[in-house]
Amino acid sequence: MTTATLTPVEALERVLHCLDRAHETGFKSKAFARALDVVRDTPADEIAERARRNTLKQLDGIGDSSARVVIESLRGDTTYLDKLDSQTQVTITPAGQRYRDALRGDCHLHSKWSDGGATIKAMAKTANALGHEYMVLTDHSPRLTIAHGLDRDRLLAQLDDIETLNEQMAPFRILTGMEVDILEDGALDLDDDLLERLDVVVASVHSKLRMDAFLMTQRMVRAVESPHVDILGHCTGRLIGKRPESEFDADKVFAACAANNTAVELNCRPERLDPPEPLIVMAIEHGCWFSIDSDAHATGQLEWQPHGCDRAAAGGVPIERVINTMSAADLLAWTEN
Ligand SMILES: [Zn+2]
Ligand SMILES: [Zn+2]
Repeated sequence: MTTATLTPVEALERVLHCLDRAHETGFKSKAFARALDVVRDTPADEIAERARRNTLKQLDGIGDSSARVVIESLRGDTTYLDKLDSQTQVTITPAGQRYRDALRGDCHLHSKWSDGGATIKAMAKTANALGHEYMVLTDHSPRLTIAHGLDRDRLLAQLDDIETLNEQMAPFRILTGMEVDILEDGALDLDDDLLERLDVVVASVHSKLRMDAFLMTQRMVRAVESPHVDILGHCTGRLIGKRPESEFDADKVFAACAANNTAVELNCRPERLDPPEPLIVMAIEHGCWFSIDSDAHATGQLEWQPHGCDRAAAGGVPIERVINTMSAADLLAWTEN
């Protein structure tokens, strides 16, 4: 990669991007995030002067590693970044690579508007750099207050923002969307007129994950049957090693997905990898559509699609049933049926 022309801020952003894609969320990430804030808030000439005099570490929040990144960036030296870049590559199998090569977009990701860490523009630029033609922005819906879900007014404001960004970023395209909560009775956490207006709707269960299997099945089927829902997000809700799968009749849910053209998401987050493989095989048998989505909350996490690609390959998902292998225009036509 070419990092020779990066400013100190850009170099530190790149460090955070690499740590994110390696799912590094500990001390190191926090320290670099803090250093980035400090460097952003300090005049560039002061940073350059301190780099020359070797006094960067006198700034509260700059440590050995962040000082090194700043100094190297000012010299056009990429040693630290190159090493980090190679250490944090997301791996993929040759079989998975076939799927990754076919992907033209990402249908589930978040921005700072809800609980993501990056602006819409930063996410779009990264998605574009990863070779995508489009991304669907799917911030959280109102009732997920813990994730700063968007109410009606904020969603409308976001739609305006996306329109402006699309003018700047063409031909790359940001499609509108939302990750809408599936409420306890299977209703959706957004008004119908807004659901109608969005390009792509992901529906996910985020609450009462332990409810009775019969009721959970009804809940999910009702959501999947909504004409507004295009993708069923992380269907089992599992968090590997932390939270078990929700209990529901997967046969019934996937039958409803197939009958209603609602894609089953292969969620690529390393702690989710949802659904588990036996359920992927079951969804294939039902003739479901699939969507291989990063569910990224930071730019580096947009690089997680290989996880889902490998799982699609291992489970034998027909590549032509993966909706984000379509062009944006074809995807929009598909969501209409
Ligand atoms: Zn979710
Ligand atoms: Zn999400």
